Amino acid sequence: AVTPSEPEQVVRKYLEELRGAPADEDCMICMEKLASPSGYSDACEGKTIKPEAVGQLTKCQHAFHLLCVLAMYANGNQDGSLQCPSCKTIYGEKTGTQPKGKMEVSTFTQSLPGHQDCGTIQIVYSISRGIQGPEHPNPGMPYTARGFPRYCYLPDNEKGRKVLDLLRVAWKRRLIFTVGTSSTTGESNTVVWNEIHHKTEMDTNLSGHGYPDPNYLDNVLAELAAQGVTEACLRQ
Ligand code: NAD
Ligand code: ZN
Ligand code: ZN
Repeated sequence: AVTPSEPEQVVRKYLEELRGAPADEDCMICMEKLASPSGYSDACEGKTIKPEAVGQLTKCQHAFHLLCVLAMYANGNQDGSLQCPSCKTIYGEKTGTQPKGKMEVSTFTQSLPGHQDCGTIQIVYSISRGIQGPEHPNPGMPYTARGFPRYCYLPDNEKGRKVLDLLRVAWKRRLIFTVGTSSTTGESNTVVWNEIHHKTEMDTNLSGHGYPDPNYLDNVLAELAAQGVTEACLRQ
């Protein structure tokens, strides 16, 4: 694992401090004028960052109080990455809070509805109940894990195998599941899917998470990209 950097170093790595603040713009984090001090001056203290300091993210150029970005970072899982609150551009490698478990892959020859010309990839996710860590909503409290192992299906063609490779990256970065409240059951402190859709039915579609679905592979590629998992990750 990468050693997490000091929060202020992370802020300085991805934002360039501006000499003069844009006069009329607001900070999207604290909603104060960029020309006024950060609205988080009382809640968050910087060793090297002053309440008046304003910076611009290096790729998307969106500007915020540096102290506001520091407060946002301190409030997250502090993995060394930042995500622009305005346009969602990711800086560094975003990781999630998925509890420990297993991802297993196998293939078989039976086809999925809508993918008659190839076999099927099966992914089995296994996660057990445990105690929440500092990265979870209620550290020290137990979390449950319902419906595991969860079985998921992809067509065993070129695009399906690409999605599989990206899902392996997402698994390693702890992005597939999170601990939270299930929107299906309302149960809190439980392991839930995290914004990367999976097909959990193979030859039925009772839940709506089955086949056929001609847009599924493109949709999941877009969801992976929104978490910073793209083909570029496979070339590293
Ligand atoms: P959730 O209800 O909080 O929903 C999070 C996301 O997962 C949403 O985007 C939702 O659309 C999607 N989702 C909901 N049900 C799904 C399903 N059956 N298959 C694939 N995606 C689904 O997430 P959750 O609480 O993790 O899952 C929803 C329910 O599905 C839970 O009750 C879980 O036990 C059950 N489930 C059971 C199995 C099983 O093999 N028994 C497999 C998957 C899900
Ligand atoms: Zn601000
Ligand atoms: Zn941005």
